[in-house]
Amino acid sequence: MPYIEPHAHMVSRTTADYEAMAIAGCEVICEPAFWAGFDRSSPQGFHDYYRQLTEYEPARAAKFGIKHYCWLCINPKEAEDAGFAREVMAIIPDFIDAPTVLGIGEIGLNKNTISELKIFEEHVELAKKYDLPILIHTPHLEDKLKGTKLILDALKNANVDPSRVIVDHVEEHTAGLVLDAGFWAGMTLYPESKCTPARAIDMLENFGMENIWMNSACDWGVSDPLAVPKCIQEMKKRQLAKDLVHKVVYENPIKFLSQSKNFKIDG
Ligand SMILES: [Zn+2]
Repeated sequence: MPYIEPHAHMVSRTTADYEAMAIAGCEVICEPAFWAGFDRSSPQGFHDYYRQLTEYEPARAAKFGIKHYCWLCINPKEAEDAGFAREVMAIIPDFIDAPTVLGIGEIGLNKNTISELKIFEEHVELAKKYDLPILIHTPHLEDKLKGTKLILDALKNANVDPSRVIVDHVEEHTAGLVLDAGFWAGMTLYPESKCTPARAIDMLENFGMENIWMNSACDWGVSDPLAVPKCIQEMKKRQLAKDLVHKVVYENPIKFLSQSKNFKIDG
């Protein structure tokens, strides 16, 4: 079944992963800017990373017939030093006009600190200035509910159109908050934390199929670039209607991503 992987960190994955994803039906991969597994020591490191996201990965994906898009930001894990973060953010406008940039992301909170929140708010202003959609990372485990509430409050204060924001890594206790406020929600299928396929499908049944997508968020850690097609198999086993599965893994991502002027599914 054709599907879209709306959140994958392919800079950390092998070319064999691209091949496996293509064979499994992946047509589009979207890659948010994130932590590389280590802290970069200079803004120049981010300049190189943004080049990798906007030049190198689209070419690598194209070899397998996959379209590759990206989101730009400095991630919350490296935003604790606000001065450093601002130096990095000053580079972003140089890349915003690249033809595969979708918007600002994945921004958000990691440890819910004051500095992280400040840099989050400045990213939101950057997105507003350039009229770009936003992709949001929510914190892990015990920090998730508090962090999600802080993020939603900040977005409301900034008067952002919620239909142009996706809040990723939702779980059972945060999905309702996000969807009820008019935002999109992303479910991340992880082998060890976040959602298993069974939990994700339960959430779809509880929260409905509107304004929601699923992703692997595969990166340099324990994660599975084939998590979405594996979940499609699980949905088939649970006898979800084929058109509903197609909606969640294909039509919904297209609907959200089409709010970016650069996103095109054909050609
Ligand atoms: Zn991510």
